Amino acid sequence: MTPDLEIHADRSAVSRPPADGTLVEHARSLLGSGLLTQVGLPGRLPAWPGRLLRRRGGIHAGPDGTVVVHGGWVPRNAGGWTHGNWIIVRRTTLISRALLNHEYVHVLQYRAQGALRFYWRYLRDLLRAWRTRRSIWEVSPSEQVAMAVEALYRLHPELPDLWELRASGSLEV
Ligand SMILES: [Zn+2]
Repeated sequence: MTPDLEIHADRSAVSRPPADGTLVEHARSLLGSGLLTQVGLPGRLPAWPGRLLRRRGGIHAGPDGTVVVHGGWVPRNAGGWTHGNWIIVRRTTLISRALLNHEYVHVLQYRAQGALRFYWRYLRDLLRAWRTRRSIWEVSPSEQVAMAVEALYRLHPELPDLWELRASGSLEV
């Protein structure tokens, strides 16, 4: 789930200089090997939650076997959220690279944990957020990884997208 912030200019169209190697390493280390090994492995996550939340949203093929829905149902305080390989974005939210990479972290978490375990942990985090009157982005370990990745991509749009990274350390060509 990505917080619904003001609309940022999407800098993805701007040609990117080559990313600094240590920055790429940093992005890789934020994911850790558990998530990196899921890149390129869409697996068999259930599609029905995404279909259910699609409503009349436009549907696009996203990166690495994902489906991106623009205009589906999204919780009030969020700009987008992810269900398995389906990334659902609010109609009025710009699909920036930072948002897409944030949601893609969740895609990798679903792939690594399986849908049931991901939902179970996320529900537990939501309850903890409600009990402690904090936001899900503060209390959830799943969100902490995604938020760190999002912040990194806002600061460094020159970084290759996460789905271009491979566990081996080389860039996918
Ligand atoms: Zn999130």
